[in-house]
Amino acid sequence: MIRTENLEKSFGKLHVLKGVSTSFEAGQVVSVIGPNGSGKTTLIKCILGMVVADKGSIFFDGKNIGRDFQYRNNIGYMPQIGRYPANMKIGQLFSMMKDLRKAVTNTDNELIKEYALEAMFDKPMHTLSGGTTQKVSAALAFLFNPKVLILDEPTAGLDPLASEILKAKILKAKEEGRLVIITSHIMSEVEEMADKILYLFEGSINFYKTVSELKTETGEERLGKAIAKIMKERMHV
Ligand code: ADP
Ligand code: MG
Repeated sequence: MIRTENLEKSFGKLHVLKGVSTSFEAGQVVSVIGPNGSGKTTLIKCILGMVVADKGSIFFDGKNIGRDFQYRNNIGYMPQIGRYPANMKIGQLFSMMKDLRKAVTNTDNELIKEYALEAMFDKPMHTLSGGTTQKVSAALAFLFNPKVLILDEPTAGLDPLASEILKAKILKAKEEGRLVIITSHIMSEVEEMADKILYLFEGSINFYKTVSELKTETGEERLGKAIAKIMKERMHV
């Protein structure tokens, strides 16, 4: 569904993506993990067309995206830090987004309801707590029933109940055959949701395996332990 070929990206002297070739298929939850600064957000932003790679190609449903940004209508994105016009009210934000995407009539308002956002529709964005801003970002990502969801550290800042609601929503999206790409630092959460783990280290793919492959190969029951074992082994080579 999404394929990258040899993506390279530098910011000045900093070589952030060093030839990333990978693919993501429908009906899967893929977790992109790796230390801070390993290039997770940059990879995601390249796929979204928010960062332009220096080299390499990105294919969406087999088509090189080039400069045609139509494919982005198929992606719902939840940024790590959502930035919104400070004085815009929550309700205005949702109606503006719906206005911009008039063609989509079957909007998904489930998260708006479950997060009880309607009761806060007249609150300006700058008055919201970090957690509420995250809820707004999550609800926006799902709003237009996209085929692909890209969620950058979605549960960071969400309270436990809000996290559970989002996790359930993510698993439902997967069952509906959508592709969900998530970055996260929380191993227990990755374990609950992910089918495949892409481990990015200093801008290169260290491994890309299914959760069951990782557990079988290492003989570890817990994903966190399995990953730690692989990382240790590689460092000793
Ligand atoms: P991650 O999401 O894995 O923590 P990022 O992709 O956000 O990592 O960042 C990778 C590296 O690139 C970091 O060192 C970060 O400071 C740097 N970086 C990211 N975006 C920019 C930018 N727009 N300008 C300069 N440096 C950047
Ligand atoms: Mg990041």
